[in-house]
Amino acid sequence: MDHDEEIFDEFRPGFLADKDTAWLNDFAEIQRRHEPEISAWAQAFLDYHPVDHQRTAAAIKAWADQVPWPEGEYGREMMALAVRMAITMRLSLSIAAERDRARRTDLMQAAHERIVEARKKAAVYDGVVDRARPAYYVGVGWHAILDDLIKEFSEIDGLGFLSAHEKFGGLRISYLYSGDRQADIDAIEKRAIERSLITCWYCGQPGKLKRERWWRVRCEEHWSAEND
Ligand SMILES: [Zn+2]
Repeated sequence: MDHDEEIFDEFRPGFLADKDTAWLNDFAEIQRRHEPEISAWAQAFLDYHPVDHQRTAAAIKAWADQVPWPEGEYGREMMALAVRMAITMRLSLSIAAERDRARRTDLMQAAHERIVEARKKAAVYDGVVDRARPAYYVGVGWHAILDDLIKEFSEIDGLGFLSAHEKFGGLRISYLYSGDRQADIDAIEKRAIERSLITCWYCGQPGKLKRERWWRVRCEEHWSAEND
């Protein structure tokens, strides 16, 4: 029998079916009247038994049996049962929450792996500019800079170009790589960014980086065209 099943075994559906109406009424009354203590004892069990393997059916029973109850007064068994039920209910809720969390984590992991796979497939490793160009999310003025970068990237084993964007006026490159030539990649990227900062985004003519609302690089002609 699995650990969880053992805990829940006492509370299979219909577990109170053999009790008579008077007993059920008394039990409901004890649950109602002692609700704060029942909750407190149930929570205390979880606090004192933080690790899953400590939360056995025997530990729950021992805990419920030590709940204080006036000597000789009717209802001790009911009180203990109410505490066992409260502990079990909390455990079932936390187990359900944990399964839900684990399921969400699995789904997120699977989604992440699919994205990584898709990126690997989309990456350009071989310097073929025609395959890389659809991922140039910048003006045609910068395409020559990127074509050069793609060729340089292809000389480094395992380096895959993903995409190019504009950020703060200059080029930003995304790529996939794990290897020991990071310094070479940084140098290639730096050269491309430096070129982009003096190259018109639209036409590739010499341009200036300026800020009007946001940073952009444009030649004189295209600065005035944009500002008309
Ligand atoms: Zn221009």
